[in-house]
Amino acid sequence: MSENSPSSSGASAPSDFIRDIVAAHVAEGRYPQIVTRFPPEPNGYLHIGHAKSICLNFGIARENGGRCNLRMDDTNPTKEDVEYVESIIRDVRWLVDGWADHCLAFKKHGVPPEARETDGKTDFFMPPVQPVPADASGLEPFFASDYFDQIHAYAVRLIETGRAYVCDLSPEDTEKYRGSPDRPGTESPFRTRSTAENLDLFARMRAGEFPNGTRTLRAKIDMASPNIWLRDPVLYRIKHAAHHQTGDAWCIYPMYDFAHCLSDYIEGITHSICTLEFEVHRPLYDWILASLDLPRPLPHQYEFAKLIPSHMIVSKRKLIHLVNEKIVAGWDDPRLPTISGIRRRGVPAPALRRFAVGVGVTKFNSLTDIAVYEHVVRDELNAVAARRLAVLDPIKLVLTNIPEGELIEVDATNDPQNETPTTRRVPFGREVYIERDDFAEIPPPKFFRLKPGGEVRLKYACIVKCDEVVKDATGAVVEIRCTADLDSRAGGPNSGRKVKGTIHWVSAPHAVDAEVRLYDRLFTAAEPDADGDFTKHLNPDSLKIVHAKLEPTLASARPGERFQFERLGYFTLDSEDATVGRPVFNRTITLKDTWAKA
Ligand code: ATP
Ligand code: MG
Repeated sequence: MSENSPSSSGASAPSDFIRDIVAAHVAEGRYPQIVTRFPPEPNGYLHIGHAKSICLNFGIARENGGRCNLRMDDTNPTKEDVEYVESIIRDVRWLVDGWADHCLAFKKHGVPPEARETDGKTDFFMPPVQPVPADASGLEPFFASDYFDQIHAYAVRLIETGRAYVCDLSPEDTEKYRGSPDRPGTESPFRTRSTAENLDLFARMRAGEFPNGTRTLRAKIDMASPNIWLRDPVLYRIKHAAHHQTGDAWCIYPMYDFAHCLSDYIEGITHSICTLEFEVHRPLYDWILASLDLPRPLPHQYEFAKLIPSHMIVSKRKLIHLVNEKIVAGWDDPRLPTISGIRRRGVPAPALRRFAVGVGVTKFNSLTDIAVYEHVVRDELNAVAARRLAVLDPIKLVLTNIPEGELIEVDATNDPQNETPTTRRVPFGREVYIERDDFAEIPPPKFFRLKPGGEVRLKYACIVKCDEVVKDATGAVVEIRCTADLDSRAGGPNSGRKVKGTIHWVSAPHAVDAEVRLYDRLFTAAEPDADGDFTKHLNPDSLKIVHAKLEPTLASARPGERFQFERLGYFTLDSEDATVGRPVFNRTITLKDTWAKA
């Protein structure tokens, strides 16, 4: 079923304080088009928190006929990698596919920003390509590193107008001179350098004359400002390091605060939406843009609270730890809250979007119970998943009154959730597998499944009665022998006969063998990192591998198809490890919240 099934359209248009601001701007016609951006740093894989930011930025673009730029915020070459760039593109496209892909903007490969002369000043603008065609070859996301020349030119302009200077303080002294929130900073002794000297030194920084850490370019703002970010913040630092996009072209790199507002401006962003920790940076964002006296409308920054899901870790640094220490099998391990892991686990993109939009946008950080996410995933899968029969822990049941080799086919329902359900034919016969725990030799009270002398209905087939159990030398039950009431099949004279229990099964000679990976929450604690050591709270049962018996139609399952294995949960073919003839299924989620009572 497609990612765009009706259930995926989600609730009515969301509303929040950022959307209210955008609506007011639209009403007053402030901008020709609303332009947002999603600006990840390619230093790790995207996670469920980024999904919230993606859905907000693309959602606002989509609701207002705008566009959203995917931009790599790549100003810190030593921590970044093209593997991350590629995964980010894949994840964003998957998440917005069929929903806001028409708002996604890319740029032409290798094309620099356009330079335009306005009032004797050079203005830079990065033209977007939008919508992105299905074959996006020749296109790529935006990169902050594409603007290194322009950002550098703006830095020179700040020096020329006396708003920036080269400072020789060491990183430690720069920190010391900055003061603290309740104590003003001290001016750098290099603050009063002449423009000519600053220009010369900045050129020599760029030319590679000085080692790392010996000089910085700093904005000349106010060392006594109550806002610490305005105390002559560093704009450029020396870093003799190759960059994944620009190679060895640069040995000075702009700081996040300098690069970000300028990248927003160059791309014509109208609403620059980020998380709350950047609120204190906003005055600097505004100062830089205002100081450059730019000809086009300036972008503005708006902040919202991060998504902090319970029972998960969403900091990239900590996710890297889980991957590097091989606590999980990689960035796309289905237990991780990475978008790649979520996709591989079988969560449909509309479910992730529904959750990411549904949590809402506020100004207050709070923990979101992961059960909310799991509920949305179940709800979405219930609507789209085809029902199938599978047995995860098989034990053989022999129906002694059905002759060997006799094939009986029964009709099983594919989609009982739909108004006009469809069916498929499933083979049935003398030998079937049932779930080991659907039989109890000594049943507890109210056990309505199979027990010695008892009856149960095999779903879609007939009622069977347990006559005898066969045990091995250790006393373990290895086979259950029953009589089938074939008249109790659908359409038979006894079809209306009722028994208390109904169980699932798979015909033994037709069963497909499969590895099934039973995933569960990775952490047992709601806030795994509350005491600073999240590895203490790993769930030892987050992955259990079983060898299951599946109904034959599942042999042709394709990646991306979702199934409900009846009575067991939702499953999907693993996109990495399944091969023809050796299916591997992932459990996306159980049918019920098994944690609720815990
Ligand atoms: P992390 O803290 O996981 O390392 P980050 O903020 O450094 O994440 P970026 O790549 O800089 O990651 O994030 C890209 C965008 O996603 C930013 O605008 C950031 O504010 C937003 N974002 C990051 N984490 C979350 C989150 N948990 N909830 C909502 N938005 C987030
Ligand atoms: Mg960041």
